[in-house]
Amino acid sequence: MLTTTVQAAASRRDLLIHDIRTPLGTISGYAQLLLRRAAQGGPELLALVDALQHIEEAARRVGSLLGELADLQAQSDTPAGILRRQPTDLVQLARRVAADSQDASLGTWHVVVLQGVPELVGLWDPARLERAIANLIDNALKYNRDARPVMVTVQQADAWAVVRVADGGIGIPAAELPRIFKRGYRASNVVGWFQGTGLGLAGVHHIVTEHGGTIVVESQIGIGTTTTVRLPLEEPRDE
Ligand code: ADP
Repeated sequence: MLTTTVQAAASRRDLLIHDIRTPLGTISGYAQLLLRRAAQGGPELLALVDALQHIEEAARRVGSLLGELADLQAQSDTPAGILRRQPTDLVQLARRVAADSQDASLGTWHVVVLQGVPELVGLWDPARLERAIANLIDNALKYNRDARPVMVTVQQADAWAVVRVADGGIGIPAAELPRIFKRGYRASNVVGWFQGTGLGLAGVHHIVTEHGGTIVVESQIGIGTTTTVRLPLEEPRDE
């Protein structure tokens, strides 16, 4: 039992370490931009302030991830995955994550958020959902093509909140789709072409199922990928 718990905590730590890399990418991207501007000798003050705000936001994300890592350490003798549920507006969360991810791409890509409802509040763990949605959007941006926008949709369907992330990117080979949530699995059309660890989607799957939700990936080579996450609006009774 203890071994299982220690293993669960260790694998969760691996996933967190992977997820910390995304906001760190933002930090280093903007740091490089500032360095380039500074090197040109005439950085405009407003642009500098804007970039610094993004750095601050990314640092906040890293802070919350590291907080969770510290919790894992403290709870290493209890099962990992205790959700910190609190009223969370999924529309606002998706918009925030989409803006961060678009900014991290330094204006190369567009992330469009379509909201079917003005707000969608459920009892969820906001830090974990933020990581899950950030992972999906970052994948959509990474594997996208031809400057097509990434579309994020937030809707309500009966007692479910539905978040959909769609790209017009390279797609996933149909035969490999069933393996896509396996830790460390990377599809044959990305290996050697795109950097990655294959840990992100496994982490998203973990977070979504912890919330009692479901995740489905649909994809066509050369057409694009759509990932649909469904989260129950009511907290499961047996938790
Ligand atoms: P990685 O770190 O390689 O991006 P993930 O665990 O996030 O790993 O995703 C697993 C694999 O699923 C990726 O390596 C890639 O083959 C595939 N994948 C995930 N999202 C997309 C997407 N939006 N478009 C195309 N392939 C994707």
